[in-house]
Amino acid sequence: MSASILDGKFLSQKIRASISADVLDWVEKGNRTPKLQVILVGENPASETYVGAKTKACKDVGIESDTLILPDTVSEYELKGVISEFNKDQNTDGILIQLPIPDHIRKLSIIEAIDHRKDVDGFHPMNIGRLTVGQPSFRPCTPAGILEMLNYYSIPTKGKHAVVVGASNIVGSPVAVMLSRENNSGKATTTICHKFTKDLTKHTIDADLLIVATGQPGLITGQMVKEGVVVIDVGITRVADHTTERGYRLAGDCDFDTVAEKASWITPVPGGVGPMTVAMLMKNTLLAAKNSIYTD
Ligand code: NDP
Repeated sequence: MSASILDGKFLSQKIRASISADVLDWVEKGNRTPKLQVILVGENPASETYVGAKTKACKDVGIESDTLILPDTVSEYELKGVISEFNKDQNTDGILIQLPIPDHIRKLSIIEAIDHRKDVDGFHPMNIGRLTVGQPSFRPCTPAGILEMLNYYSIPTKGKHAVVVGASNIVGSPVAVMLSRENNSGKATTTICHKFTKDLTKHTIDADLLIVATGQPGLITGQMVKEGVVVIDVGITRVADHTTERGYRLAGDCDFDTVAEKASWITPVPGGVGPMTVAMLMKNTLLAAKNSIYTD
């Protein structure tokens, strides 16, 4: 078998076109243009690239955005003060802190400082908690993008065995919850693997649907998967490559060639999950502007 491509770039463009029409309609009805406030702490080339992609997407769909760049010496107290101001600002609909942030700042404490009604990344415990009990919430963008993709390509999940490799708060854990709970592209039997999982292959080889989000390039090889598996490769790692102009290439967590030989469907890196994540951020920002999740 040779895998078909789950084309996140194509699908994200379709979604963005639809969001763009919704934003236009919203503004034409006399509402304020939705606004996303991005906060970037310190200098990190990958983060700068991601923020650039997000603010460009905002511009393309008609959402206003602003990026506040803070030095990496900023204290947790100061950063919370900044967030508090954006929480109060009536013209700010969504707040996004680009991760990672420097080690001296407690990440969870910062995420909790964001008003959950403006948490368009969907990382706040209020949103994660509501997601877990099936209440309306801002859905974390990467997992939401993965489910959109499965839905669009009519990949069956009900009763299938979904194996998620990686258990982070922003990707692995929420996607496992969504795949096991939700009716649309969910109701799968779900296994979560992490660094302490013994014999990873024992789990991955049994997967009908394999989601990999570890940041370990090439972790999953063709020998670790069964024929016909659907593979979602979330990993994006910059790997040194002096044959390229920029000196690096982007690598996923799967050894693409050997896995694609056995898979029925697979996401490319880049061009798979990444653009879907950005499209879901646009969707959440518009939902925030419309007070669609929290009505108070
Ligand atoms: P984290 O580092 O927060 O989490 C990685 C997870 O993978 C952890 O649960 C860790 O286990 C697990 N893990 C690490 N090594 C192994 C291993 N050898 N075997 C099994 N499990 C392992 O990463 P993120 O979730 O934030 O991101 C993961 C990847 O996805 C990164 O490459 C990141 O760049 C990419 N990413 C891509 C996005 C996109 O839009 N395409 C969005 C977000 C992330 P443990 O819990 O035991 O430490």
